[in-house]
Parts: sequence; structure tokens; C-alpha cells
Amino acid sequence: MTTIFDASTACSDTAAKPARDVLKQRGQHEVFCGLTSIMWLHRKMQDAFFLIVGSRTCAHLMQSAAGVMIFAEPRFATAIIDERDLAGMADMNDELDKVVTRLLARRPEIKLLVLVGSCPSEVIKLDLPRAASRLNGEHSPACRVMAYSGSGIETTFTQGEDNFLAALVPDMPAEAADAPASLVVVGALGDVVEDQMMRVFDGLGVGPVRFLPSRSSTTLPPVGPNTRFILAQPWVGACAQALERRGAKRISAPFPLGEEGSTAWYRAIADSFGVPEAKFDAITAPGRERARRAVARYRPVLEGKSVFLFPDSQLEPSLARFLSREMDTSIVEVGTPYLNRDVVGAELALLPDTVRVSEGQDVERQIDRVHSDNPDLIICGMGLGNPFEAEGRSTKWSIEFVFTPLQGYEQAGDLAELIARPLMRRELLKVGS
Ligand code: SF4
Repeated sequence: MTTIFDASTACSDTAAKPARDVLKQRGQHEVFCGLTSIMWLHRKMQDAFFLIVGSRTCAHLMQSAAGVMIFAEPRFATAIIDERDLAGMADMNDELDKVVTRLLARRPEIKLLVLVGSCPSEVIKLDLPRAASRLNGEHSPACRVMAYSGSGIETTFTQGEDNFLAALVPDMPAEAADAPASLVVVGALGDVVEDQMMRVFDGLGVGPVRFLPSRSSTTLPPVGPNTRFILAQPWVGACAQALERRGAKRISAPFPLGEEGSTAWYRAIADSFGVPEAKFDAITAPGRERARRAVARYRPVLEGKSVFLFPDSQLEPSLARFLSREMDTSIVEVGTPYLNRDVVGAELALLPDTVRVSEGQDVERQIDRVHSDNPDLIICGMGLGNPFEAEGRSTKWSIEFVFTPLQGYEQAGDLAELIARPLMRRELLKVGS
């Protein structure tokens, strides 16, 4: 296993500061694969169906991770590659075509069928993009068919969404070259968060504003040279590059977590659209005040505590910035599966120089560092949470930050409460014992 301290990797936003060392690790890592993102994507885009082409393992992961589906008809399934396929006794493309034909005959309301690649489909080199193109010729315009990879060989957890969105970009309609400036917010958000954001955008006079992913596959935002976009989630770097290739311009900002992050995020948009400072202050002041009051309730729980963040969702730099600056928490280590400085550079620039930043994972060594640092709270994946709890440590599952609507002013208190909850529970148990 190699460990490299790379002083040249400090983000460009820290030009005035000494370069930040980044601990790069390439060892065993413990994160879910990209299939997991289907758990929130199938709720977001309501006329899409995600068909995983994988093994029984993939089907079990999705069933146990997603639990009970809340819809009358499921919005995802697994086409299982079985022994006959692997032994070459059946033509896999023919088998896939039959499954898709049966599915679309039974579910004519599906407007977008998404073939999701897995480790098995990649290992046997099943060409899903080509299969999607063939099936698209057969079933569009009634139902479009596309493909992306959620394989654990290539993707972690949240990257599945990035691959999905990047694959959608070529299908976004072209915006006229003389269209007025528009904004696309990129990364899946809770519907309630989108609605709150729209109220702020309306107040600022910024628009038209659209979201990617859209709630329907038939209303993808148009894109062109006058499109500006801003990331709402840090894991959509490949989608950002795809949008830039279509001529859209990126607005860089910290992510809208907490009062400070949300204000910086809205401010970057307002600056890009020429919103006067006084108007910006008037529109955002009530939300800022509500957010400050909401997080203040949990500051006594978190201030002065030490927190260690394992690499998982890629939200880690933003969570660390929120904890450090709004909750007066001491960050021991912030890990992230990938460190895309274009995307999280603004977050890292706001962290104290004493914070250890790590990219990638060598899980045994990282566990050793936890034992040596002895933090008050560990934010980590589900596989690590229980063993740490068994050692008497407080943990929080990273995946909860992805499933819970946490962006914007109105959710800042929920964010603080979610992080503070394990520490509050431990205090209660102490009192009760
Ligand atoms: Fe496992 Fe790979 Fe299937 Fe994910 S895609 S469940 S890592 S086999």
C-alpha cells in the first residue's frame, strides 16, 4: 500500500495560504457501489425505471438497502445474469431484449428506461450502451432507453448519480444562442428543498431556473451558451464536465449546507446574475436568521467536540466546513473518496490548516488513526459504524446525509441535529444508567 503526501495538491482557492498537505491512500476501501444511488434517483425522476443488469448479489443489495418501496409499482428491478447466460447457452442481448419488451408492455407509463451496469455485466463485457441504443430504436419515442454504469469496480456510492446525470446531458434540448441567461441547479435535491430554493430565486429575480435531474424525464432542462449551472451536490463532477462541453458556464461556490454555505451558494448565483447587494441582503436575511437560530440550539452539543469523517459520500468536506465554522467543532480528519479541487476547493479553503485531509482509503490505517486520535464522533459508512459503536464510540452513518433533505436555510437546523443526535443519545444513556 502506498501513502503519499502530496503538497502540490492544495486547491487553487488557497493561493494566499500555504499549500495544504493531502494524505493520499490507495488501499482497501469500504463504500457502497454506484447502484446505491438508484435508491434516491427512482424517487426523484418519477417516470423513469432503473433496470440493473446484474447478479443476485446486486438484487439483494438493492432490496435490503432500499427496503420497502413506497410505490404501488416498483421503479427499479434487477435483470439477473444467470448460469445459462454465463455459460453462453443463451444470447444475453436477446434475453435482455425479452425482459425489456415484457417490462414495457406491462408498464406503458415508463417514459425513460435506464439500463444500469454492474460488476458482473462489466466483467463479462456486456455492452449496455450499445444495447440501450438498439432498444431505444425499438421503443422510442414512447420510451427512451439509456445506460450508465453503477458497477462497484468503477464507482462508489454517489458516483452512480453522477454517471446517470452525465448520460442524460446529451439528451438535454439545445437552448437558442440568443436565449436569456438561465440557471440549472445540478444534483438531486428533495422536492421541498427545490421549492424553497425557487422562492429565493424568485425573490432575487433570477430565472429561469431548472433542476437536473428534473422530476420528469420529458422535461430535461435546455442547455446552451447562455446556460449557467451550479452544483448542489459535490459528486456530480462528470456531469459538470458534460454540461461544459455543451457550452454551459459553471458558477463555483461552496455547497448549500448550513447558513454560511447556503449564503455563499446563493451569493455566487446572485453575483453571476447581477443582483444588487441590497436586494440580496433583503431577500436572504430572514432565512439566514432562521438558520442561525436553528443551528444555535445544537451548538452546545457539538462545540469543542472532535470529529473524524471517513470517505464515503463526497459530502465530507462540506460537512467538515459546516461543523468547523458554524458549530465550533474540531475536525481531526476529513476523508473523501475523490478530491476534485474544482468542485470542493472552495470548501477546503474554509477549513483550518490543522485539519488532516485524506483522499481515497486504506481502511486499516484509517481505523488505526481513529484509535490514536480518539475522536468524540465518527462519521462513517454503515459497515464501520457498528464495530466502532461496539468499542464504545459515537458514530453517524454518512448515508443519512444523502437521504435527508439538508440543503438551504430551512434545513440547517436539521443538519446540526442529525450530527448532534448520537452525542445527545450517549448523554441520555449516561444519565439513565
Ligand atoms: Fe456488488 Fe458490484 Fe453488484 Fe454493487 S454492482 S452489488 S459491488 S456485484
